[in-house]
Amino acid sequence: MDFDLTAEQRRRVRHIRDAAGRLPRPEPGEPAGRDIWQAAGECGITGLCLPEEHGGGGCGALDTALGLEAFCAGGADTGFAFAIAAHLLACGTALAEHAHEPVRADLLHGLSSGRTIAANAMTEDEAGSDVGRLATTALPDGDSYVINGVKSFVSNGPLADVLVTYAVTAPAAGFLGLSAFAVPAGSPGLRIGPPLAKAGLDGCAAARVEFTECRVPRGYLMGAEGQGSAVFQASMTWERACLPAIYLGTMEAQLHRCVTHARERRQFGRRIGDFQAVSHRLATMKQRLESSRLLLYRACWQLDQGSADAGAAAALAKVAVAESAVANGVDALQVFGAKGYLAGEGVGDRLRDVVPMHIFSGTTDIQREIIAKGMGL
Ligand SMILES: Cc1cc2nc3c(=O)[nH]c(=O)nc-3n(C[C@H](O)[C@H](O)[C@H](O)COP(=O)(O)OP(=O)(O)OC[C@H]3O[C@@H](n4cnc5c(N)ncnc54)[C@H](O)[C@@H]3O)c2cc1C
Repeated sequence: MDFDLTAEQRRRVRHIRDAAGRLPRPEPGEPAGRDIWQAAGECGITGLCLPEEHGGGGCGALDTALGLEAFCAGGADTGFAFAIAAHLLACGTALAEHAHEPVRADLLHGLSSGRTIAANAMTEDEAGSDVGRLATTALPDGDSYVINGVKSFVSNGPLADVLVTYAVTAPAAGFLGLSAFAVPAGSPGLRIGPPLAKAGLDGCAAARVEFTECRVPRGYLMGAEGQGSAVFQASMTWERACLPAIYLGTMEAQLHRCVTHARERRQFGRRIGDFQAVSHRLATMKQRLESSRLLLYRACWQLDQGSADAGAAAALAKVAVAESAVANGVDALQVFGAKGYLAGEGVGDRLRDVVPMHIFSGTTDIQREIIAKGMGL
């Protein structure tokens, strides 16, 4: 077992980390605009795991995770990093693997450079964790499919150029009657709603999306008809394995700030870091970060090896990072005292960006179900 990064991995991590520090940040409370997406694209982050022949980085899961972690450790806005990760992992991996030519070739260069933005449209009002309950249909009609339905929480929706959309093509076949489509945002009958007012992750805009008699050519089908659940599961394994890496990066930056503060802040004539209550809190924060990082790297490595256990390993990693990130967020607030609770300090307000990790890409309860199934339960 080798825990060292290769020279190439170290070079890429350093490059992304340095570039993240120079990137313009979204205005407070606002999503990142196209200019920021394109600036991020220039450092390679928007195409990390997309094919090299289409301008991507050609990275596997572990290198993708290292890149996303470095992006946030270098200071990138968490909401913007989440937006990029959703574009890349829930959408880019699926489009690269399953979109048919020429749709695939048309999209991949833009996705890699950040000029084309992708969104994933699965969740509906009555189908959250239970994606077997989708009501959106895509019924064949001549050379097209006609899509009808409403998607309730589409990250990147307001900016998206293409929506990886899941819809029922064979209503009697249940989850196996699901198909995936690469739907261009300008398609007639597609309406993207105004940005949702969310409690956090401001750097990423989300919207409801309505399909009304939305006609798309058959060539926009991804994979074969009825293969939508397989396309979705594969993209979710990528997302669960790699996306939490952005929180490893934010936890690392946060821990560094906390340690610096504990060294500088004095009370009762001593540095607060000299009080065991504070130093042990920081030690626990470090232990949570390092242990969840190991689980995440291992899940990514298993995905790269093509292991059948990668899905359960990704679930384990996602739960560990989510729990560590929330607990570290609360501890960081404690270390900073009242100052940490001030808006704009980047301590208390960070919690708003961390808590939804227990919900998106499959809730923590659903991840525990996957872990339990992996144990034969
Ligand atoms: C920030 C953010 C970004 C998102 N981005 C996207 C996106 O880009 N595209 C998209 O399609 N969706 C997106 N979603 C939606 C997300 O995928 C769903 O919120 C998630 O799947 C849970 O569905 P739900 O919110 O309807 O909760 P529900 O499924 O209603 O769950 C409510 C509660 O019940 C629990 N529960 C439900 N079923 C079970 C079970 N079988 N066993 C145990 N507990 C259970 C859940 O764990 C949860 O605690 C996003 C959500 C968030 C918060």
